[in-house]
Amino acid sequence: MPELPEVETIVNDLKKVLPGLKIRDVWTDLKKLPKNIKKEVVGRKILKVERRGKNILIHLDKSLTLLVHQKMTGHLLYGKWQKKNGAWQSAIPGPLRDPENRFIHLIFFLSNGWQLALCDMRKFAKVVILATEKIPEEFRNIGPDPFDKGLSFVEFKKIVRGKSGKIKIVLMDQSVIAGIGNIYSDEILWLAGVHPLKPAQKLKEEEIKNIYKAIKQILNKAIKARGSSYIDYRDAFGRKGNYQKMHYAYQQTGKKCKKKDNGIIKKIRIAGRSAHFCPTHQKL
Ligand SMILES: [Zn+2]
Repeated sequence: MPELPEVETIVNDLKKVLPGLKIRDVWTDLKKLPKNIKKEVVGRKILKVERRGKNILIHLDKSLTLLVHQKMTGHLLYGKWQKKNGAWQSAIPGPLRDPENRFIHLIFFLSNGWQLALCDMRKFAKVVILATEKIPEEFRNIGPDPFDKGLSFVEFKKIVRGKSGKIKIVLMDQSVIAGIGNIYSDEILWLAGVHPLKPAQKLKEEEIKNIYKAIKQILNKAIKARGSSYIDYRDAFGRKGNYQKMHYAYQQTGKKCKKKDNGIIKKIRIAGRSAHFCPTHQKL
């Protein structure tokens, strides 16, 4: 699932191309989409694109916002597609023709002749249109963003200590802190030297401080690398990210720990998810 760095990469890409354009038409084969979506968005001008946790917000004029949560395999793409033998194909050669970009289920036709498309193999992505003023209500259960200036160490410590559960699960809980999922919780805990199964409430001040610092370090590094294309993630221009080449822990089972402490990365199951860690420097 795209996490904060992947969503941030797509949002930064879209910020460069979408503002100022108008939506001319909509095509979709997704049955769960709001029926009125075409009526609501056609003719609307795109004002601004932003990220909230793992959500993409495309603000339109007339105080409307298109909210996209890419979920498991979704990613927004900017390009040009044409229908061939009943399927949408990229009219532009290059990364948009990568097979991972072929699951086009929604297209917004834009005023400059380009298109904004949702590629989503498993079709779990959420797309809704709502009044911009309803955004705070929509996100009432979403915790602070790791890059929120208001999220001081003291505040973070309070949030973490207030949660029962293992630290890996707490970090992935979107109501605690927004944007972190399976990949980056592993990476953050590896860097912080904290075992994923440690109960959040029992963490020492030092450990919470290390996690707090590691969150920004890891996420910034991953944003710089344009996200992690472990499987299907691609950026808005259809290109792979690079962070998967730098993973410390995630999917590194059996490999030597990059802290050179003779540890071998191990994989365990935790609440139906996987966790990867180094038993040498991440002790319970
Ligand atoms: Zn290690």
